[in-house]
Amino acid sequence: MKTYRKSQKLFKQAEAVIPGGVNSPVRAFKAVGGNPIFVERAKGSRIFDVDGNSYIDYVLSWGPLILGHAHPKVVKALKSATEKGTSFGAPTALEVELATLVLKAYPSMDKVRMVNSGTEATMSAIRVARGFTKRDSIIKFEGCYHGHADGLLVKAGSGATTFGVPDSPGVPKSYAKNTITLPFNDLNALKATINKEWKSIACVILEPVVGNIGCVLPKLGFLETLRKLTIKYGIVLIFDEVMTGFRVSYGGAQEYYRIKPDMTCLGKVIGGGLPVGAYGGKKEIMSMVSPEGPVYQAGTLSGNPLAMTAGIETLKILSVRGTYKKLERLSAMLGKGLIDASKRAGVATKFYRAGTMFCTYFTDKEVFDYATAKTSDTSKFSRFFSGMLRRGVNIAPSQFEAGFMSLAHTEKDIEDTVKAAYESLKEAEK
Ligand SMILES: *Cc1c(COP(=O)(O)O)cnc(C)c1O
Repeated sequence: MKTYRKSQKLFKQAEAVIPGGVNSPVRAFKAVGGNPIFVERAKGSRIFDVDGNSYIDYVLSWGPLILGHAHPKVVKALKSATEKGTSFGAPTALEVELATLVLKAYPSMDKVRMVNSGTEATMSAIRVARGFTKRDSIIKFEGCYHGHADGLLVKAGSGATTFGVPDSPGVPKSYAKNTITLPFNDLNALKATINKEWKSIACVILEPVVGNIGCVLPKLGFLETLRKLTIKYGIVLIFDEVMTGFRVSYGGAQEYYRIKPDMTCLGKVIGGGLPVGAYGGKKEIMSMVSPEGPVYQAGTLSGNPLAMTAGIETLKILSVRGTYKKLERLSAMLGKGLIDASKRAGVATKFYRAGTMFCTYFTDKEVFDYATAKTSDTSKFSRFFSGMLRRGVNIAPSQFEAGFMSLAHTEKDIEDTVKAAYESLKEAEK
């Protein structure tokens, strides 16, 4: 029987000094009940909590750790980078190296700027798109999360969905009014809006696979039509690949679906577990960015040598031949196992996957947008979550988050996960 005494005690202390006891909302177990486990260390596919319990981990720091935790090569490179100094506020060769690796993987980008988070990346990309087009409005899709910048916290996914605060207090109405929100995968709504409003629309931003309401795939033709329409009306198309980048495939969703956006936002995997974001795009758009152009964007720690080092090591390992084949094989094995476990347990679920990101929804309806994702039985999910945690499997504490596979997961891990899932599903159904 697992006990969580130390975690409980730490959470009490944390609540006294940190809002909600956590530094990012979904880490609290608000959506599923109970208190979060406090992590002491992690290695490969496993995390270990302060009470000595261990878990097979499918959260992976919410996406970044595609190599698994504390990969020896990344740790070694970080140690030696640390010795040389942790920040200079001056250019380094490391920044050039990571930028070059990223541009090679994403041919739609001619230039890229490093920042410290995905939030910064999307916020900055939109500023550049507005500066470039001299238009003010943006289109986003319901359930797509693009970080917590003011204009983007409108019908956003992730914690915003979990907590039902799509419009956060503190975001001025005057600010949110420039954000047009449409249902994902709805071509009619998209066409009608663009045909009518195009003169004021600077950009369309989206997660090409929506990972912040689970895992919602684009319908056949959705991205293609979006691309055609945005070209026709001179609207900047921004793919927010902070989650999908190097996850759906090495070249992200844009490689997988063969669509070239005008701008791309990255984060998570490219930082290898350290705080990094990046945005880039076509030469004529990125030449707007200061100091080359007039659109201002800056950062004291941007391009930080430790963060660049972790990113470079991660991408180098990922670019070894056969890596994505292995990731695909492991992800497919887990997917098949989970679908099968649901059937055997007699629980109605829908499973979706794009590369190494996936989600099991507790619903019998097809999920293709925010509204259909919300048909999920979240109380059943909560029981499933608790069952998995008790059985030593760590999944995100919300129905509306994606799960992630890493290179460190073994077939044995997956077999154990499927077994735990079958038992937890049966429990959840009762
Ligand atoms: C995580 C995420 C962000 C925000 O990144 P942070 O580093 O948490 O600021 C933005 N967009 C998408 C698609 C994400 O998944």
